[in-house]
Formats: sequence, structure tokens, C-alpha cells
Amino acid sequence: MDRYVYYFGDGRAEGNAKMKDVLGGKGAGLAEMTNIGVPVPPGFTISTAVCTYFYAQGRTYPPELQKQVLENLTTVERSVDRKFGDSGKPLLVSVRSGARASMPGMMDTILNLGLNDQTVQGLARSSGDERFALDSYRRFIQMYSGVVLEIDKEHFEHELFALRDRAGVRTDAEIPAESLRELVETYKNIVNKNGKAFPQDVREQLWGAVGAVFNSWNNQRAITYRKLNGIPDDWGTAVNVQSMVFGNMGDDCATGVAFTRDPSTGAKRFYGEYLANAQGEDVVAGIRTPLPITKAQVTGDEKSLEETMPAVFAQLQDVYRKLESHYRDMQDIEFTIQSGKLYLLQTRTGKRTGFAAVKIACDMVEEKLIAEQEAVERVEANQIVQLLAPVFEAKAKAEALSGGRQLGRGLPAGPGAATGRIAFNAEHAVDMARSGPVILVRIETSPEDIAGMHSAAGILTTRGGLTSHAAVVARGMGRPCVVGAGSLRVDYSRGELKAEGHEPLEEGDWVSIDGSTGEILNGQLPTRPSEVQQVLLEGSMKPEDSEIYRNFDRLLKWADAIRTMGVRTNADTPEDARVARLFGAAGIGLCRTEHMFFNEERILRVREMILARNEKGRRKALEELLPFQQADFEGIFRELDGLPVTVRLLDPPLHEFLPQNESQISSLARDMSWGFVELRAKVAQLHETNPMLGHRGCRLGITFPEIYEMQVRAIYQAACEVKKQGIDAQPEVMIPLVGTLKELQITSEMVRRVAAEVIEERGVDMQVVVGTMIEIPRAALIAEKLAANAEFFSFGTNDLTQMTFGYSRDDSGSFLPEYVDKKILPKDPFESIDQEGVGHLVRLGTERGRAGNPKLKVGVCGEHGGDPESIRFFRSVGLNYVSCSPYRVPVARLAAAQAELEHKAYEG
Ligand code: ADP
Ligand code: MG
Ligand code: MG
Repeated sequence: MDRYVYYFGDGRAEGNAKMKDVLGGKGAGLAEMTNIGVPVPPGFTISTAVCTYFYAQGRTYPPELQKQVLENLTTVERSVDRKFGDSGKPLLVSVRSGARASMPGMMDTILNLGLNDQTVQGLARSSGDERFALDSYRRFIQMYSGVVLEIDKEHFEHELFALRDRAGVRTDAEIPAESLRELVETYKNIVNKNGKAFPQDVREQLWGAVGAVFNSWNNQRAITYRKLNGIPDDWGTAVNVQSMVFGNMGDDCATGVAFTRDPSTGAKRFYGEYLANAQGEDVVAGIRTPLPITKAQVTGDEKSLEETMPAVFAQLQDVYRKLESHYRDMQDIEFTIQSGKLYLLQTRTGKRTGFAAVKIACDMVEEKLIAEQEAVERVEANQIVQLLAPVFEAKAKAEALSGGRQLGRGLPAGPGAATGRIAFNAEHAVDMARSGPVILVRIETSPEDIAGMHSAAGILTTRGGLTSHAAVVARGMGRPCVVGAGSLRVDYSRGELKAEGHEPLEEGDWVSIDGSTGEILNGQLPTRPSEVQQVLLEGSMKPEDSEIYRNFDRLLKWADAIRTMGVRTNADTPEDARVARLFGAAGIGLCRTEHMFFNEERILRVREMILARNEKGRRKALEELLPFQQADFEGIFRELDGLPVTVRLLDPPLHEFLPQNESQISSLARDMSWGFVELRAKVAQLHETNPMLGHRGCRLGITFPEIYEMQVRAIYQAACEVKKQGIDAQPEVMIPLVGTLKELQITSEMVRRVAAEVIEERGVDMQVVVGTMIEIPRAALIAEKLAANAEFFSFGTNDLTQMTFGYSRDDSGSFLPEYVDKKILPKDPFESIDQEGVGHLVRLGTERGRAGNPKLKVGVCGEHGGDPESIRFFRSVGLNYVSCSPYRVPVARLAAAQAELEHKAYEG
């Protein structure tokens, strides 16, 4: 018989941490904690296989499920000595969703399930606390109605607030038992008025809740979250049914959440928040402001758990240590204290900022918890970009602070400086972000706000702690974020953000937030490069003053020691080349020469060259351009002393260099002493309907050989020139857009001839290296023949993607998003390589190329060269290097190391 249910409790569990696929993250964590002796209330997990079955079989369950659930329920009953539905000593359970990857707040948990009109009395008697029993009951009706019966929770909240007013109390904990009894009746009436019935049968309650969890896998919030985080829709969720422990039974009870290290900075200190006399949901909901767990966190006159419950705090510390040394990673935990006893309800690998990820990985190597290789595996390659995020300019910020521009301060929840216009809701944020940076300002955020958070440059909330929705999601997205800025007031109805001593700010006004310190400032503030850049590029900070830089550098050096694939950069200017080299690029994989043509001084000569009536005129214009190109190359060779520089000969169609509108044409006509009509006709003649497939690339080099000749001459004259000054220039010439063997033969012979002439003239010893781009599908197919004429291939995956799919990159915006939505494509193929199709051509081209020339060097220079997932693929194909934009170089170094480790593991 298939097993669908897994028990955990009393120090033994049928599952463990490795079974996330089956038990989901939460279930696997509960099982593992049980196994290592951490106190966990007993329960069981219904596996993800049931979710798969549920959707495949018209929302029904496998026939054997019911029996397995009831057997496990009996085991739980025995363990806690209570019975489900019993009016004397009732067992209550929570029903919790849990997918393989954590999806915070995406699906709703039901607490206190098993209460009805009879069992509530049993709970009151057995606990000796009627108020607590009624409080649990009203919570249950509200949650059950919201999640299972789909009744708007506003109705219930409204009655609760009204009751608090009538009773003259401020918090839920102060509402007297009589009022709660009334409230239970009011709640049941709300359910009836909505045409539903609240089930008194506890088994009906249980199955209703289980079904709701499975159904919630396909609610809109969950779907959006999965899409943003690349979680496959077919993974499914597990359901955890767990006996309840109560944090709301009095003042020696509490509930809280904590991290074993600081999730923003990575500092090694326990960090968390708790609420006394409350149930789990209260902490996240932000109804009351939670209190700090450690004394070190205290900022005002509030009391930490360490001070109010020292004995429990000690238990908690033991658990922290046990979990960290067991998981050897930072954990994010949920706990409840019932009458002075600690229970763990969840542990998972804590989400962290890029800063924290790097620091924790490096610290844990130092603490000998993990090896260097694991440190490299731990940091998500894309996260390292955060370490390059801007900070506020120190002087401007100090002036703003002393000038009274500080509006307030919250908790630093997501590092980085952000400045932008205020948007008070997610929809406005999405709209406004089209025309400039936006700061999303909310009292608190909820899953409905995700799209707005995504488009905002920064997020500010006035309520909630470091574990609030805003903080968790912002960290995941790498957005600068400040939460819990309690001294600020957001008034949605007036559309105002109020800070004491300041004029109210309105939507559209500028505000600045520092997600590393929590400061909120009025107006716009200039930003400065990150510490890494200050050390590396500007030299304005010393390495010994920046721990961030030192860790960044250490981690990447470990990565370099692991990876076999080279990382080069796409750079067209000496400045870009310098930046990339400092970031660790081992050469230039793509230097586009056309950018050098656009400069003001040169464009006129370029136009003269294009419009020349004959070859003689063209050669004259080219001669004037040559010194410019040569000087550009000299600059680049100097920066790349000792490293290869792949220069691509001219690629775009010529008309891109010509003016298009009448007034520009007429002024050019004047500059060149042409007739306007004549020039306009010439421009029209050069116009192309479909330039992507037009007169470009080597097609230009073949029809106007003098253009390529000039470029090759400039490259080698530059190389020889700097070589004489002791600089080791290593040019590699790359022919673009080759589709036939003849094209490559003609152009490569020309390159070798001109290069040899220059080298001969200058009497310098220099190698000539010629290669081709593979960006037309036909080139990949005839790669074996091409390789006999080339020292290297470089896959131009942008064009290769365009031509393999037949999508123009510039026009695909009108349908690609819908294609991804409808799952016609798993991803935008211009962002991450389409492994099946375009990738197949890369593999084929590489294999055939190496068959034609065993010494062939193969790289890639499209956008994909900086995308971790594509890099993993390129490693599996066996490419020699990837080339990406300068700021992606650190990402690519890390991703290439991770790809190497995966590849090795795969090869065994
Ligand atoms: P989420 O995934 O949204 O965090 P959880 O399933 O973890 O949802 O639960 C929500 C809250 O309910 C958490 O604070 C958790 O600690 C609390 N909770 C869940 N199960 C129990 C239980 N058996 N006893 C007491 N509190 C619980
Ligand atoms: Mg949880
Ligand atoms: Mg191209």
C-alpha cells in the first residue's frame, strides 16, 4: 500500500530533513527536529503526493488516505493523552501547509481545530481557564471561516474591534470571558448570514481544512509567488496536522519567531521577537508590536524575553545551538511557550540578504562548521549583486540628518540605499515605477502587494518587525527595506505620510530610506557606490576597513580555485575594461567596435564613409577614422595588459549611423555639402525593413572590404604600438554573423593578410588569432568546416536566440510575457538560455567545431553569459569561458564555481 502519511512525535519521526520533496519543508523540519531531540508537539504530515493526486483526479483523495490519517490521529491522541472531539479532554490540532520551498505567508494555517460547542467546555475544564478556551474557540471560528468557508475576515475583525471598544479594553488578551462567549455566538451568526454552516463535527472540520490547504496551492497569491521565485507549479504542497500547544494561556506563555543569526547583516547573534500571552498568528499579523528576544536588541524601555523568562530563554539558546550545529546553517524558527515550557513549531534555512549570505558563509568557514566549497555553494550567485548596491553619499546624508530631514527610524530589514517617490499602494507603485524610482510606503504589506514591492526601489512600513511580511519578502527580492517605523503615520484615506515636526508628505513626494541603518529621510539623496566599489574601483576605502569587501574577495577567490570555466567581460571602453578586470575578468570576450563610431567627433567621418560615392572616397574617410580606432584599442590593450581581448569587427547595418528625420538630414547635407534631396534619397535607399536580418556583420566586410581592413589595421597597429611600450597586448579578431564557409574564408584571410602586413611593418613579434561568432543557426550546423578556419568560436546567444526562435528581441515584448504566463515557454529565452533548442545548437556547434579543430577555444558572449542558470548549462556543454557585462563578472565567477561542483557531482 502506498504511504501517504508520516508521523512525528515523542523523539521519533518517520521522515527526516532529506524528505522535503515528500513532506514539504515544514514537515521535513518538524521530523528532523523530533529526531534530534528538540521538543516538538506530535503530529503527522500528509505527503505532497496527495496534492498531486488531488489535482490529477478532479480534487479527490487516494482511497487509502482516510485510514492512514485516522491511524496517525490515534497515535497523536495516545501521545498527548487527549482525544479528538472528546468533550472531556479534547485534542486540538493545527492544520498547516508546507511546500518544498518555503512560501512565506502564501497559504493559511488553521489553529485550534477540533473545537465545537461541546469540546470548548472540555478545554475550559481541563485547562481551568474558561477565558482561554473561549478565546481559542473564537479564533478558530474566524480562521476556519476565512480559509475554508471563504468568508471575508473583515466581518469578524469588525466585531472584535467593536467588542474591544464596548468592553473598554485595548488588547484582545483583556477581553473578559462573558464578552468572548457573546463573540462566539456573533461569529456563528456571521457564518450563517453568509449562507454557510460552521461544522460542529470535528472530522468534517479536519477534512475541510485539509482540502483548503490543497486548494490554496492554486490561489492567486501562491501562483504569483511561485512565478516570481521560479517554483514549479507541479511540486504541490504537503499538509501538517499537529497537536496544539498554547501560547495564549497566561503570562507564562508566549509565542515568537527568531533567527539564529542576523538575517540582514549576517552578524553572529540570536535575533528575534516574541509576544507574551498570544498565539502564533499574532506575531506575523502585526496586531501588537512584538518585543525583542535578547537584551542586546532592546532599544527603548521594553523588556526582552531574556529578562522576563530567563529559564525559557536558556532553553531557547540550547535549541539555537543544537539547530545550528546540526543544520550547519542559519535557521529561522517559530516557537511557542506553554506554561514555561518551550516547543519548536518550525525550523527552516533562514532567508537572508546577499550581505548576510556572504558573511555567514565566510564566518562558518572560520568556525569550521562548513568547508570553503560549501561556502561557495551556499551563496546564491545572483545575490552577490547586492554587495555592489549603492549606499547614500556619507556627506549628503550627514547634512540631511543635521539639517532636520530625518523623518524617523525603523528596523533595517533589507540593506541598500533607495530614494524615490512615495506610492501608498501596490498598484500605484507599479504605475509610477514606469517613470522613475518609487518607494512603496505601507502600514504593513501582505501577499497582495507583491507586484508593487517588486517594482519599487525600496519598501517602507510603519508596523511589523524583521520577520514581518515586508521584511521577509524584501530580503528575498534584494530590495532596500525599512520596517516598523512606528513614529511615522500612514493615512491611506488622506494619502499622507506624517512624521512629527514635518509637513505631511503626499503620494509622489520624494523620500529616502537606508535599509542598512533603518533611517528615513525627507526628499532625494545622492547615492554612493558600494563599499566593494569604494575599495576596488575608487580606492577611497581600505580593505581593512571593509569587512564586506574582505568577505566578498575571500568567497570569490574560493570560487576561482574551484571553477574551470573562464570568465571574461563584454567591454567597449577602457573604463569598462578596467572595472571588469578589477572584478576579476580574465580578458575581454566581446569588444564591440561600433560604439567607437558614435562619438561626436567621429560620426561625421563615419557618415562620410558610408555616403562616399566610390571606394576612393570611402578609403579617405576610413583613413581619417583609423587613428581614432587605434587610440581606442591602445587604451583597452593597456588596461588588459597580459589578457586576451576579443575585438568584433563592425556588426550593425550602416543606416543605423545615419540621421533619420528631415531636419537632421538637412543639417548633415549642409555639413557634407550635399543636396538635401539627394541625401534624403540616399538615406532612403540604405533604409532596411528588417535590419536584424539585413546588410550587417561580415556581409558588410565582404561588400566593403576596406572597412574591415581599416579596423584590422587599427587593431594591430595599436597592439604593436603598446607592445613597444612593454605592454603585452593579446588581440583576437572576431568575425560576426558568419553563416557560410566562404564568408569566413574571405574575411579571415583578409584579417590574416592585413595583420601580417602590420606586424611585418612594425617588426614586432605577435600572434594572429582569428575566430568567428556563431549566431546564425546555419553556422552551428557547419561548425566543423568553420572550425578549420578559426582559432575560436564565440556563441552570440542573443542573435542565436532571435534566429533560432524567429523572435526579434526588440519586438518580442508584445507576446513573450504572455507566452511565459501561458507556459508556452518556461522562461524568457533572452534572459536564460533555452537549453532544449538554442542550447542544442550550442552543444552541436561546440562538438562539431572541436571535431574540425581539436584546439578550438569556445566561449559565449551573449547576455546569457551572466545568468547563473545558463552558466550551469554552458559548463555542461564544456565551454572554455563565458563573457558578461562588468558588473556581472562576480556573479559569473561564483556561478561558474557552482556549476563546476554540480558537474563533478553529476559525473560522480
Ligand atoms: P506559516 O507558514 O505562514 O508560517 P505556520 O503553519 O508555520 O504558517 O503557522 C502559523 C502560525 O501558527 C505560526 O506562528 C506557528 O508557530 C503557529 N502554529 C502552527 N501550529 C501550531 C501548533 N500546533 N501549536 C501552536 N501554534 C502553532
Ligand atoms: Mg511558519
Ligand atoms: Mg550578434
